[in-house]
Amino acid sequence: MEKPPIVPHNAVIFLVLPVIALIVVPTYGYMVGFGLFEWGLGVLFGMLTLHGISAGYHRLWAHKTYQAHAAVRLFYAIWGGCALQNSILHWASDHRNHHKFVDDRDQDPYAASRGFWFSHIGWILRDYKSGKDDFSNVKDLVRDPIVMWQHKYYIHIVLATNIALPLLIGYLFGAALEAFLIAGLLRLVVIHHCTFFINSLAHMWGSRPFSDKNTARDNTILALVTFGEGYHNYHHAFQGDYRNGVRWWHFDPSKWIIKTLSWVGLTSRLKQASQLHIEKATLAVQYNQALRKAERLHESDRWNQHLEERYAQFVLALEEWATFKQEWYKSKKNELIATLERAELKQRYAGLKQNVKLQRQEWHLLTAQLAAA
Ligand SMILES: [Zn+2]
Ligand SMILES: [Zn+2]
Repeated sequence: MEKPPIVPHNAVIFLVLPVIALIVVPTYGYMVGFGLFEWGLGVLFGMLTLHGISAGYHRLWAHKTYQAHAAVRLFYAIWGGCALQNSILHWASDHRNHHKFVDDRDQDPYAASRGFWFSHIGWILRDYKSGKDDFSNVKDLVRDPIVMWQHKYYIHIVLATNIALPLLIGYLFGAALEAFLIAGLLRLVVIHHCTFFINSLAHMWGSRPFSDKNTARDNTILALVTFGEGYHNYHHAFQGDYRNGVRWWHFDPSKWIIKTLSWVGLTSRLKQASQLHIEKATLAVQYNQALRKAERLHESDRWNQHLEERYAQFVLALEEWATFKQEWYKSKKNELIATLERAELKQRYAGLKQNVKLQRQEWHLLTAQLAAA
């Protein structure tokens, strides 16, 4: 099959610029040398652009997982623009199609099912049909004046933040060219590939604890270089959640910053998947894995029956606990409830929580036995 034509300006940005960076930066470093200042500025620019894409382009605009004050939106529009990954409108449209048609070779713009190269960068280099935007899926974003302003002045923002700003800051500190080479050129290329790894590697390498219905994976190493975007399996399972790293210890600086901004009123309406849904999703994955393993065993009927019973009991325990949890929180706020009644509710809540713990232990025991069988 004939390949679609190359998109010339994308070929320059994504193929020629990296080659220039890989030749010029080490040569200059060898001949003249770089100082701590330009490396520091490069890291700062890297973090700002990653955060602009992660918290702005991705979680705010593409998925609407929270709301943000105009000042925050402007900040993300500028730093996300500096990452040179097209305007918010284009990016969000592609990304919404990615989620809607994930892994579909014809409709997912960066389908991992088409291989590493295609999902990483190949999809940008050629004028593929799967990558065409008609903006019909981003009508809500058209109403955001900051999105439209960024779309209109995208090239200006790109040039100002990638060339003028590093040169200016560098000039003020007596290292204009060095600052441009590290915080402008090298940072741009490195951050491109860090972000692109989410479309390629994060669909190939890692675990799938929350859903095995698509190729998306959780990968801590990728989270480290993408400001928290590496928990991609969770993200595909719960795309409406402002967090990508759902556990508190997961490395997700974007999540921490969005949360911190909410304390001072700069972000609001942070959406989160319920604990019940998350637990049920992980349990369903484990259950399906266990059934597949049991199928290959001797007494598969007996295993199936055990698994089915344990699974049903665990789900029931989770649901009872989650339902009662809401009642219990409501009752805590209700001053009319008598002390005795409240004590009873508390006891019941503790009992249900204990039951979840027990069911979890039983489930782990059974799956461990199955693994050893
Ligand atoms: Zn994905
Ligand atoms: Zn997404």
